[in-house]
Amino acid sequence: MATAYVSHPLYWAHNQPGHPESPERLEHIGMALDASGMRQRIQLLEPQPISLDRLSRVHVPGYVQSIEQIARRGGGGLMGRGDETYVAPDSYEAMLLASGGLDTALEAVLRGDFKNAFALVRPPGHHAFGNHGEGFCLINNVAIAAATARHDLNIDRVLIVDFDVHHGNGTQAIFYDDPSVLFFSTQQWGIYPGTGHWSETGRGKGAGYTVNVPLIAGWGDVMVARIFDDLLTPIARRFKPQLILVSAGYDPHWTDRLGSMTVSDLGFFNLTRKLVALSDELCAGRLVLTLEGGYGLEGLAYGVVATFAALLGDESFVDPVGPSPRAERPADEKYLDQLRALHGLP
Ligand SMILES: [Zn+2]
Repeated sequence: MATAYVSHPLYWAHNQPGHPESPERLEHIGMALDASGMRQRIQLLEPQPISLDRLSRVHVPGYVQSIEQIARRGGGGLMGRGDETYVAPDSYEAMLLASGGLDTALEAVLRGDFKNAFALVRPPGHHAFGNHGEGFCLINNVAIAAATARHDLNIDRVLIVDFDVHHGNGTQAIFYDDPSVLFFSTQQWGIYPGTGHWSETGRGKGAGYTVNVPLIAGWGDVMVARIFDDLLTPIARRFKPQLILVSAGYDPHWTDRLGSMTVSDLGFFNLTRKLVALSDELCAGRLVLTLEGGYGLEGLAYGVVATFAALLGDESFVDPVGPSPRAERPADEKYLDQLRALHGLP
């Protein structure tokens, strides 16, 4: 069965010149999809805007209206905690179509039209909370999709995997006391937003359904693979998700200036293969990804190509950007053991 992707010109319209979260990100992804021949192997899905009903499951109406007002006034920054996050004149429509694009992909996969799908949307979402945006994110696309799956699509248990170099603090907060959504997140420790410590594991009925793996600068392909094998895989088997959603951020790439990890595009290929295998084993292959960060343009672009190669079932990937010239920090067995014990794994 085929792999789908979502794209739309409005995703380019969210723009503030000089900002790292730029339309050039999608431009480079598009060039890499063409240059690699990948675009011929995947099928384009036309996104539909998110409905206000679905949006309001995650976000308070007053916050959504404030974004619309800033956009109608010609754009500007979010107030308060989100002042690094901009709203351009077309950002309101772009964000509705970004969230809607992920829901379009989700519905297509759950209908069985496609094996899996990747929504190449902007603006990204995983730092958006119910009542405010920050970290370049306006509304939380992956959280809205998880809520759609739960409420409209007969899914009882959703696994969200977030491999962006920054902690998905908004996603975590939205589902922190919800045992129906297991949030598994890797992030570099000590950078924005400062949360995502391993001791953050959920609250109330959601206790144990948030798993954070903070990363030390310099770790890369080997350690990330070990985290997916030794932690994510057994935790996912225990949870038995009916759907896997992924916040796919490519800023752990060694070329990215917002992080200090040493992941390569071959590393992204291998970790996506693990996600495909998990979804095949646990939930009939139902795997839907959405684009989050990634600011080193070549590393990002070929990371996305590598992800599609894995989604299509390719067994190998030639990484044109190559491995990190910096030596990768060795995997830490003791740390993996400690995290396994914390989460009750044998
Ligand atoms: Zn990021």
